[in-house]
Amino acid sequence: MTPDTHDQYAPESSLNPRGEFGDVFDFIVCGSGSSGSVVAARLAEDGTASVLLLEAGGDDAAETVSNPAQWPLNLGTSRDWGFVGQPAPGLNGRRLPLSMGKGLGGGSSINVLVWARGHKGDWDHFAAEAGDDAWGYQSILGYYRRIENWQGAPDPARRGVGGPAYVAQPQVPQPVAEAMLRAASTIGIPVYDSPNGEMMEGPGGASIAELRIRDGKRESVFGSYVRPLLSQPNLTVLTDALVT
Ligand SMILES: Cc1cc2nc3c(=O)[nH]c(=O)nc-3n(C[C@H](O)[C@H](O)[C@H](O)COP(=O)(O)OP(=O)(O)OC[C@H]3O[C@@H](n4cnc5c(N)ncnc54)[C@H](O)[C@@H]3O)c2cc1C
Repeated sequence: MTPDTHDQYAPESSLNPRGEFGDVFDFIVCGSGSSGSVVAARLAEDGTASVLLLEAGGDDAAETVSNPAQWPLNLGTSRDWGFVGQPAPGLNGRRLPLSMGKGLGGGSSINVLVWARGHKGDWDHFAAEAGDDAWGYQSILGYYRRIENWQGAPDPARRGVGGPAYVAQPQVPQPVAEAMLRAASTIGIPVYDSPNGEMMEGPGGASIAELRIRDGKRESVFGSYVRPLLSQPNLTVLTDALVT
């Protein structure tokens, strides 16, 4: 990156004014998307290491980011890298869009907000393939519970309530979603209150999707992990900072 082409993300009062951060950091994290936000926050949280988080895109201050219903409006804009696939013979040579988030939060700022945990069978398969129980469902369940701040019916064996990631069900699901559940039930597919609890351990089922929303607004991974730490002097976030 070149120092002249970036903007320091400085919400409210908290960050060092532009230009006052040092040249040397203990850690530089490239990309403030789902994974980069967690890595930067975990490195910075205890205040001992200096961390620079670089993001090629801009900030996340937009109604199209915060309003869950507007998620499609980000596609094909400056918040989307705009990748396209190779021409596909099966699609008469068309190239399908392969959207990827660009800006604070990365994909978690433009995605469909669905919180879908992995199935027990998948995790246990990963563990078997890796020969390492740490990848197994019982192990991963501990991480899920630590990550989540689940807002629905208590399920302490499976769901977490003290974590950084708000997860909630839509207050008023679309009528078509309710109809889908009734249809599933009539053909013998079990209907669950949640897709991420008991259903993720069984042979299958139907449920209303859970979302990464807080008070009706999107909560990106950047919002869950990095934003709460922005007042810490050891964490610097730069937007419009393309790493080359
Ligand atoms: C339209 C859409 C809908 C989706 N819906 C869902 C959903 O409902 N539920 C779900 O779980 N997942 C969904 N996903 C997928 C999910 O958002 C991604 O899997 C996830 O965000 C990937 O995380 P990541 O950290 O690997 O990458 P990203 O979140 O994409 O983060 C990468 C970050 O790095 C930045 N970056 C890249 N190159 C550079 C560079 N050279 N210099 C500086 N910064 C750089 C990018 O701008 C971006 O901010 C969706 C994705 C899209 C695009």
